[in-house]
Amino acid sequence: MAAHAKTIEGLLTDPAFQGEVRAHEPMAAHTTYRIGGPARWFVRADSVSALTSVLEACVRQRVSWAIVGRGSNLLVSDDGFDGVVMTLGRDFRSFRIDADDPTRIMAGAGVLLSAVVQESFKRSLAGLEFAVGTPGNIGGALRMNAGSAQEYIGSRVASVTTYVPGSDLQRRAATDVQWGYRQTSFAPDEVILECELVLEEADPFFIRGKMEANLKRRRASQPLDLPSCGSVFRNPPGESAARLIDQAGLKGLRAGGAEVSTKHANFIVNTGGATAADVRRLIDDVRQRVMDAYGTQLTTEVRFLGFK
Ligand SMILES: Cc1cc2nc3c(=O)[nH]c(=O)nc-3n(C[C@H](O)[C@H](O)[C@H](O)COP(=O)(O)OP(=O)(O)OC[C@H]3O[C@@H](n4cnc5c(N)ncnc54)[C@H](O)[C@@H]3O)c2cc1C
Repeated sequence: MAAHAKTIEGLLTDPAFQGEVRAHEPMAAHTTYRIGGPARWFVRADSVSALTSVLEACVRQRVSWAIVGRGSNLLVSDDGFDGVVMTLGRDFRSFRIDADDPTRIMAGAGVLLSAVVQESFKRSLAGLEFAVGTPGNIGGALRMNAGSAQEYIGSRVASVTTYVPGSDLQRRAATDVQWGYRQTSFAPDEVILECELVLEEADPFFIRGKMEANLKRRRASQPLDLPSCGSVFRNPPGESAARLIDQAGLKGLRAGGAEVSTKHANFIVNTGGATAADVRRLIDDVRQRVMDAYGTQLTTEVRFLGFK
């Protein structure tokens, strides 16, 4: 049977499939929140053809699918996800320096952002110090335009290779993409496969100094000992979501096992056994209370998967 005509079940149970398939996989094992019900199929694609054949089959059979990185900005519902959750394996985990220009790095979307930060430092390349300590993959970082208050990864991207089911792979110049505050103009069904980053040569002591300062600030201000998704809400223009939540007296507010961190008001932590419903309830509660107190509508940075 031709690969393009195969069903999802046929593809995923084929012993020659390039990757790994797990049925009814608990998503709690794949999110930094340690929360989330089962994915009908949890698939690691190790090659472009494994990825494209499964996603094309999903589209043909009208099966829902989602791409995830390290689940560090993700709240998955307690009911899980009735479809294919796709992650990027072997062929998407490569990292190489341009032979003609040592400031240019090609990184697969499945590479950890922290690995790219460390490799850049080892090569005396500056520009990603802001990302030290940010969990997640390059794919997730690009989709979210991960960054700090002042810097963001999109400003370091020269080009990005993406795939939309039904089309060919596409190499896009970074200028074709809009890089906003924790948001980008990638299409909802656009999968990021690889990117080209441009950094700057710099003194390694300077790079290390910036990285250490950022790590110190992070450790001092964030509850890194408890599962979370990082900042839950986006900062309203000219405002800080954490400041509004703190000033509304909401630190320590709870719903089941979820709690507004007493260390950083924009973090909702899983204090143990929190459900996605707890986190959602707390998000709604915080949003309502900030609205009542300041008339400001908070919007979420965290992405949701599997909610009705
Ligand atoms: C302790 C902690 C600290 C954090 N600090 C920061 C910070 O300083 N700055 C910051 O910006 N964020 C921060 N975050 C949030 C998070 O780490 C980032 O958003 C990260 O870039 C998400 O990457 P990921 O691989 O985990 O993506 P996921 O959480 O798996 O996915 C996030 C979104 O990206 C999409 N996505 C993932 N991979 C791809 C792909 N290959 N192609 C297309 N779409 C894709 C998913 O569908 C989803 O919509 C923090 C989180 C934690 C837990």
